[in-house]
Amino acid sequence: MRTIKEADLKGKTVLLRADYNVPMDSDGNITDDMRITSTLPTLNYILEQGAKIIICAHLGRPKGKPSPEFSLEPVARRLSELMKENVVFSDDDEVAGEATVKAAEAFRASDGRLMMLQNTRFVPEEEANDPVFAGKLASLADVFVLDAFGCAHRAHASTVGVADYIPAYGGFLIEKEVRFLKDALDEPERPYTVIMGGSKVSDKIGLITNLMTKADNILIGGAMAQTFLKAIGYEVGVSKVEEDKLELASRMLEQADEIGVKMFLPVDVAGSTEFSNDTPKESYGIDAIPKDVMALDIGEKTAKNYAEIIAKSKTVVFNGPVGVFEMEKYSDGTRAVVEAMANCPGTTVVGGGDSAAAVALFGLSDKMTHISTGGGASLEMLEGKVLPGVAILEN
Ligand code: ADP
Ligand code: MG
Repeated sequence: MRTIKEADLKGKTVLLRADYNVPMDSDGNITDDMRITSTLPTLNYILEQGAKIIICAHLGRPKGKPSPEFSLEPVARRLSELMKENVVFSDDDEVAGEATVKAAEAFRASDGRLMMLQNTRFVPEEEANDPVFAGKLASLADVFVLDAFGCAHRAHASTVGVADYIPAYGGFLIEKEVRFLKDALDEPERPYTVIMGGSKVSDKIGLITNLMTKADNILIGGAMAQTFLKAIGYEVGVSKVEEDKLELASRMLEQADEIGVKMFLPVDVAGSTEFSNDTPKESYGIDAIPKDVMALDIGEKTAKNYAEIIAKSKTVVFNGPVGVFEMEKYSDGTRAVVEAMANCPGTTVVGGGDSAAAVALFGLSDKMTHISTGGGASLEMLEGKVLPGVAILEN
């Protein structure tokens, strides 16, 4: 992958696509600026090379129409505070219209170093990857830098289209995501263990299918474990089960057997008669789950077993909490696997929004090798798909 380290940026103007889709309250105040602060190393590096930067990004879902509540102006203001220098904001609803062309000309001629365009999704041409719009964006700059990993699975004008017109490089954020979600997992240090949980088998079919050919151990937890358990004949009470995925689940287990990957299912569960933190919690072996009980976490024996496998692994991927960790009573299993990861000296990668939230809840984020910010993009990468945004940096 070509990164900004290889680009000659001196005296150039860079078009930078960032992921500034930040959360805002109803008054338009940014409630978490992590997505902005995390791009500062890329911005500072580009500026140090003697280049100017025109930033483009999207915010929310304005559906191809200008709408003031999704203006990027507050983001430009926050960036200006963080960088301690002026950020020229081009308040142009056409994003790359006449007004922006003029503003960009003035910006190039000035001492200013940072400019930001209006929300790219104010025009329908963005998501349609319209070549004319992409050409207009590209004409504002000499070089394109993509650092919006969270948008790299979308082939839009500002993520992919512009690369047809000017040379494209990856920023530091996207470089790190690709290093840990793709390169490190294509040729993993072994044993390679995947913890897979979450609510639905159907969300993870692509993931299991791909990881089955790469991993040594797949540790199944979460609600989907009950679909697997039922598929091989266990009674799982009133647990959440995807009846239409039972056949698929047993086929996956057979396939794992044929390939020689070890797929582990819980041997015990913790649960209750209601989906609630307030009803009593009990533990059961998987052959003794009562008719009126739902499994809400993996059991203690399972957690201990999974933790031991994780401890012996050299590469660990965590995608999907193994229990309803949002409820205190059912967070033990997830805590056990996350703590085992934190103590594991190998490469530890966290993909998935709820998995990252669980790791943060236990205060162990800084013990992980990499926590992906991608959401949909990280899932697609773990599924082995080629992301359009990454493809433009590779060929
Ligand atoms: P990620 O966002 O990390 O990819 P998912 O979205 O796939 O994770 O799954 C997370 C959700 O799965 C959590 O909200 C959690 O409460 C839920 N979950 C885990 N185990 C169970 C269970 N046994 N029953 C119901 N929901 C569960
Ligand atoms: Mg989720």
